[in-house]
Amino acid sequence: MAPSRRITWSPSLTLVPTRHCFNACSYCSFRDPAAPASLLEPAAALEQLRARPQAREVLLLSGEVPPDSPARAAWFTRLLALSRLALAEGRLPHTNAGPLSRREMAALGRLNPSMGLMLEGLGPAVEGHHRHAPSKRLAVRLGQLEQAGRLGIPFTTGLLLGLGESQAERRDALELIALLQHTWGHIQEVILQPYRPDGTAARPLSRAEQHDLLATIAAARAILPPEVHLQLPPNLWPLDTLPEALAAGIDDLGGIDTADVINPAYAQPRPAVLRRQLAEAGWELVPRLCVHSGWIGSLPLPLRRRVLALSSAAAGGC
Ligand code: SF4
Repeated sequence: MAPSRRITWSPSLTLVPTRHCFNACSYCSFRDPAAPASLLEPAAALEQLRARPQAREVLLLSGEVPPDSPARAAWFTRLLALSRLALAEGRLPHTNAGPLSRREMAALGRLNPSMGLMLEGLGPAVEGHHRHAPSKRLAVRLGQLEQAGRLGIPFTTGLLLGLGESQAERRDALELIALLQHTWGHIQEVILQPYRPDGTAARPLSRAEQHDLLATIAAARAILPPEVHLQLPPNLWPLDTLPEALAAGIDDLGGIDTADVINPAYAQPRPAVLRRQLAEAGWELVPRLCVHSGWIGSLPLPLRRRVLALSSAAAGGC
């Protein structure tokens, strides 16, 4: 069957400045209090970058340092340094490092064509999982999304699904994101991320779990403005039924690295395998940059120039 529909993905590399985090979300397997206190060194980051020349997006994914911590300045300076390093290597950084002050977000926004912060969700079940995660409070997250809107930074947010929240609570969270987009116009994509328990072996989504999530994907497509892309991490959904998620409204598979640092037990599909399998179902898998094309025009000029220089190469595939 000839491919007829388009689904995007971003060839990506994840750099982790630190696995220390002052939050303690109940489901987290990323946080590591026993990790070395030192931050990722630029030399080590450079080695990782040069080992993945095809990765145009560099996701800076960090554990969070409290705003009043004496360690905050060094941590933030390292985020800036790693962003500059990515740009110097001809890549595009996309930082997701928790809530930021206005000054911090503005500084990173001059180096990152897009940034991200999950809304995660709302309601008592979600709050229960975030009892020991002060920066995951809904008001904090909404304040960050609004701040990004005021600064005009193309932004990724999303929901973590399957923590015990109801379909109605998911819809309420999506309505809030839609309102932000109607107000500021900066929400380029919403990740609909199935929660998967971690461990040494992956636990694939059951059919019942898939049907539950398909209903949410369809609701998201109906609630969010059409320009907002809907993203699903392909390693968290069985490949043989992935076309059902696309038919329900997913149009993006996000940044794909060789491994998933959040859910390491869930292997990333190889892009060539993904491309072939989706083509058989009538979908064309197309690479993109971290910033979606509809938001490139809103970037500060120096950043826009870099992005435009890379976008023609991205269209060539990888
Ligand atoms: S904020 Fe992120 S890194 Fe920190 S505990 Fe929660 S999920 Fe883990």
